[in-house]
Amino acid sequence: MAIVVSVLKEEKPHEKRVAIDPDVTKRLIKAGAKVLVERGAGVKSYYSDAAYEQAGAELVDRTKALSEGTVIAVVNRPSDETLKALTSGQVLIGLLNALIDPDKMQQLAAQKVSALSFELLPRTISRAQTMDVLSSQSSVAGYKAALVASDLYPKYFPMMITAAGTVKPAKVLVLGTGVAGLQAIGTAKRLGAVVSGYDVRPASKGEVESLGATFLTSSVSNGAGSGGYARALTAEETEKQQEELAGFIAENDVIITTAQVPGHKPPLMVPATSVDNAKPGTVFIDLAASDLGGNVAGSQPFETVTTDKQVMVVGASNLASELPHSASQLFAKNVQAVINAMLDDDGNIAIDPTDDVFSGLTATTAGEIVNARLREALNLQPLTKPEPASTADEPAETKGAE
Ligand code: NAD
Repeated sequence: MAIVVSVLKEEKPHEKRVAIDPDVTKRLIKAGAKVLVERGAGVKSYYSDAAYEQAGAELVDRTKALSEGTVIAVVNRPSDETLKALTSGQVLIGLLNALIDPDKMQQLAAQKVSALSFELLPRTISRAQTMDVLSSQSSVAGYKAALVASDLYPKYFPMMITAAGTVKPAKVLVLGTGVAGLQAIGTAKRLGAVVSGYDVRPASKGEVESLGATFLTSSVSNGAGSGGYARALTAEETEKQQEELAGFIAENDVIITTAQVPGHKPPLMVPATSVDNAKPGTVFIDLAASDLGGNVAGSQPFETVTTDKQVMVVGASNLASELPHSASQLFAKNVQAVINAMLDDDGNIAIDPTDDVFSGLTATTAGEIVNARLREALNLQPLTKPEPASTADEPAETKGAE
């Protein structure tokens, strides 16, 4: 490997993760790479500078990390100032929010910087699974959601039979049972709660039940969209969904919401009336909380709001960051998988924009916008695809658990 990998310190105030941990540092160095780590990059995720040094990295300041790295690894897209400092031939890897801010990708294309944005990864291709940051981080967030809820909930999660009497178990309802939701269900079950799950994708019923939870059947039973995701519901369906969920919400103690629809703002599943009708002590954990709104009315990103009726609404916008050591460990493995896949036999960077995985993951390379959705967002014509090779030796696409 003839590359220099730079690990930057994250700039966002709420971010505790780091893109590469000392273990992956060691693996990259063993494979021939040089690794530069900005001093203090891992501190918030409990990876000390000394641990990186022991792994063989060089500790540097930000200027050196930016000027000498051929691959720049980040969790979140860096500030405009940092982006401007990048130069031709460098590769930026992270959660770059390419589709939300396509102009930034156009700017990087003009600088001839390659940008690989994890949100764009074609997740259902089997060899992309080791690179799937959305799954690894959603899984962490789902686990943490159940823990945060159990911590805030003013009663026991499990049933307790004691000499002083019996305490009933908590009832937990998980709305949206994709990667995060299933992990939340599994964790809440392990904590002893009685758990049910709900989703508009019919395929999720079996997954919820296999974890020992009850699946709530929805009248909106055909909500599957493309690629294993949900579709956006119509206004009529949303209203119907809110009405049918209202009763379940009122009888549960903890409601964890994770519902997302790619390219749309999160669906509002819990309107203000449902928050208002919840029992005192009810905890809502809204993993979809964002500046665009969330699944729960009134949820505020990074804040816990307690209503007049003693109901807690947690705007759990970046919960993976609240388990920063493990989340970074998994994130780093995803980054390593991308680095391995983008190198040629001599260990040099060779991003192939026609490759199944990289045609999706790559926002821009060699001055060109590559990802088809991003091109559409920027009003660019689709790139013409070369003829497929006749002897494909890659495994066929596999759909996820749909
Ligand atoms: P996501 O984060 O986009 O959404 C979370 C969940 O919310 C999904 O289950 C979705 O169906 C649900 N949802 C959206 N709108 C809803 C609404 N109005 N009401 C109720 N539920 C609603 O999803 P995700 O966790 O990224 O996963 C989506 C799917 O992709 C899952 O089937 C997952 O198994 C699959 N997946 C497959 C692979 C793979 O094949 N390697 C990888 C990752 C995910």
